Amino acid sequence: MSIKEIYQTMEYGPAPESNKESTAFLDSHKRKFQLFINGKWTKSSSGEYFDSISPATTEKLAQVAEANEKDVDDAVKAAKKALKSWVELGGHGRARYLYAIARQIQKNSRNFAVLESMDNGKPIRETRDIDIPLVARHFYHHAGWAQLMDSEMKEYKEIGVIGQIIPWNFPMLMLSWKIAPALAMGNTVVLKPAEFTSLTALLFADICKQVGLPDGVVNIITGHGATGAALVNHPDVSKIAFTGSTEVGKIIRRATAGTGKKISLELGGKSPFIVFEDADLDSVVEGVVDAIWFNQGQVCCAGSRLLVQESVAEKLYKKIRARMETLRVGNSLDKSIDIGAIVAPVQLKTIEDLVQQGKDEGNICWQPSWACPTEGYFYPPTLFTNVSPSSTIAQEEIFGPVLVAMSFRSHSEAVKLANNTRYGLASSIWTENINLALDIAPQIKAGTVWINCTNVFDAAAGFGGYRESGFGREGGKEGLYEYVKHKAESEFTDTPAKIKSHDPGENKIDKKSLPAIDRTPKLFIGGKQARPDGGNSIIIKDAFNNHISEVPKGNRKDIRNAVEAAHAGMSWSGMTGHARAQVLYYIAENLAVRAKEFTDRIVQMTNVSKAEAEKEVNASIERMYTYAAWADKYDGHVHHTTQRNVTLAMPERIGVMGIICPEEHPLLGFISTVIPAITTGNNVVVIPSEAAPLSATDFYQILETSDVPAGTINIVTGVKDELTNEMAKHDDIDGIWYFGTAEGSKNVELLSTENLKRTWVNYGKYRNWYDKTQAEGQEFLRHATEIKNIWVPYGA
Ligand code: NDP
Repeated sequence: MSIKEIYQTMEYGPAPESNKESTAFLDSHKRKFQLFINGKWTKSSSGEYFDSISPATTEKLAQVAEANEKDVDDAVKAAKKALKSWVELGGHGRARYLYAIARQIQKNSRNFAVLESMDNGKPIRETRDIDIPLVARHFYHHAGWAQLMDSEMKEYKEIGVIGQIIPWNFPMLMLSWKIAPALAMGNTVVLKPAEFTSLTALLFADICKQVGLPDGVVNIITGHGATGAALVNHPDVSKIAFTGSTEVGKIIRRATAGTGKKISLELGGKSPFIVFEDADLDSVVEGVVDAIWFNQGQVCCAGSRLLVQESVAEKLYKKIRARMETLRVGNSLDKSIDIGAIVAPVQLKTIEDLVQQGKDEGNICWQPSWACPTEGYFYPPTLFTNVSPSSTIAQEEIFGPVLVAMSFRSHSEAVKLANNTRYGLASSIWTENINLALDIAPQIKAGTVWINCTNVFDAAAGFGGYRESGFGREGGKEGLYEYVKHKAESEFTDTPAKIKSHDPGENKIDKKSLPAIDRTPKLFIGGKQARPDGGNSIIIKDAFNNHISEVPKGNRKDIRNAVEAAHAGMSWSGMTGHARAQVLYYIAENLAVRAKEFTDRIVQMTNVSKAEAEKEVNASIERMYTYAAWADKYDGHVHHTTQRNVTLAMPERIGVMGIICPEEHPLLGFISTVIPAITTGNNVVVIPSEAAPLSATDFYQILETSDVPAGTINIVTGVKDELTNEMAKHDDIDGIWYFGTAEGSKNVELLSTENLKRTWVNYGKYRNWYDKTQAEGQEFLRHATEIKNIWVPYGA
């Protein structure tokens, strides 16, 4: 027999990893786990338990306590009690604990890896080499942020008690993504692991005890969806951080609407894996293995849609099929398997059903010739080719080892296909042409873009989505903002600041003078003045009930037209920061020329003293300067990730944003909200002050003379609540800022659930628009952007 023949006929022997330590851990709890509340193992009030099953063997591993509302309340109380001293401990004190946790995780890394593989079904190779090292890395990295909080995050403070709900696909990794930044920034937490995979979180509780973490700082409550819901609805929880399905993400968005609870949602995906014809196809094949067969494809950012340039499509499919034939599916503790078990029968059934639907819809299905083990919940790697972009399997997240492939001809078609999804979590681009890769990367609506690599993560880089993949980032400096609030928030008031009025009567219209020539304000849509669709007007009166003017009463159709115009006017977003700055300075210049007119208008509408109105106009001009200054300075970062990568963290425009201006300060309120949003390249649809809209309708004349591209700023006047609701419901608006009442804020959060637009609302609190810490700067720019991380590997 030749050596070649020996290699070809050699079979893998079993290579089981020992589970001795994990078994000892389970036994030390008598295989019956309680809740971890206030630093102690606590029996659940319900006295109920559920089973934790190993998906690879169907063996029952342990019983886990089911937390009910009372237990959730106890855990939140403990976290609340622990908060003050955890904050007072300071950044350095917290850094010591986080560092100690990281060390303990490393010292127990094999136990964590084995237990994770037993509980979740994923290969030990992955938990040992990827999940657990990354968990330790997260705690180390965030020990650093705790240390640096006082200097690097000095305008921010902790939020309070954080409720955290995590899924079963990366149980320990998701725990670390949630707990590490929350603790670093001075919060305390109540975490609910997924019902299928609670065990490593309970081992983590033991680690918290070992390092002497103060009681109540971390509480772990196990249970089902109802436990999660009780946590979401608890009034003393100040923020919910959730990773899981888009469906539950939407439930959480609705449940928290109007409560003032912050939320971050990391939801599903249908991420494109784009292969151009010049890509190194052998590397691509290994990339595909990582993209869709890593963790059995149960990965929110799995590269589940393979988009291949037509000229190489058949060649690549052939190579992928050959590689699939060599993949090994089996027991998660076998060190030489590639694919482990699916987490639970219910998940297996979903995969089977969707694959059947894919076949029924006429797509071509291919699976390797070998069979999966019959014990345990296994599913073979699966490839669908000739898939139509509209078929169910091309649109729905399968969350299993199923790859759907489509081809494209041109670069623009690749971008269109990639963005043809309601999700926007991640993407991967394969080409040997770096210019092409960096041209395509910004065009993909996804929070992460991997170039010639895939599924690479690090604590130093942010991760999170656009659209129905949710909002917020985890990791990197960008992720810290999810766990802090701006100190200025505590200065907001329940009523607007009192402003000195004119003497009564001083503004009255002189009835004897000639009537002014009628000026008819219109809507401003797509760079043009437009009459309202409904043909109705609203009368605007001054403080003495004198009729000043009419403005159009915009309606749903006008909002739709404005949104369409905003999407069509793409030249603003394509401009450089420098070019945008020039336009913003030009607006300020033209506003300064007409300062008197704008002053008189403010006096006329709001009856403030002339000096006060002048102050507002001057503050508006200064604010324009602030954002012109920022336009070419609101930079990103190059993150220091651990792999051989340049990881570019780019602040990107959110897209088309709806801006509902404050009622007070008709000009300054308009400028302070509209201008930061466009500074970062967004196009906006604006609803100005309802009672005093004429500063905004005068302002479009300035826009017309200041080189602002058509569609950048669109203004729709009318009844604020009606128009706001239309905007919140609109599926083509990506983000919305609302400055109005508590009720209006709630409506915006509620109605924006369907397409999960980013919202920023004031919950009926008022800021002082003259105060620079409350009303301008980076906090506004941050809300007007999302960070995209682009991973560019280096090394020949
Ligand atoms: P879920 O979104 O249902 O579960 C995620 C977490 O939320 C779990 O801890 C779950 O608890 C909890 N939960 C469930 N219902 C509620 C509720 N009403 N309020 C608060 N918390 C709740 O995901 P599944 O585990 O059911 O998976 C379903 C699908 O979601 C998958 O097929 C996949 O498509 C997607 N998914 C996406 C993930 C991602 O990372 N983007 C991760 C996991 C799933 P419990 O587990 O006890 O029910």
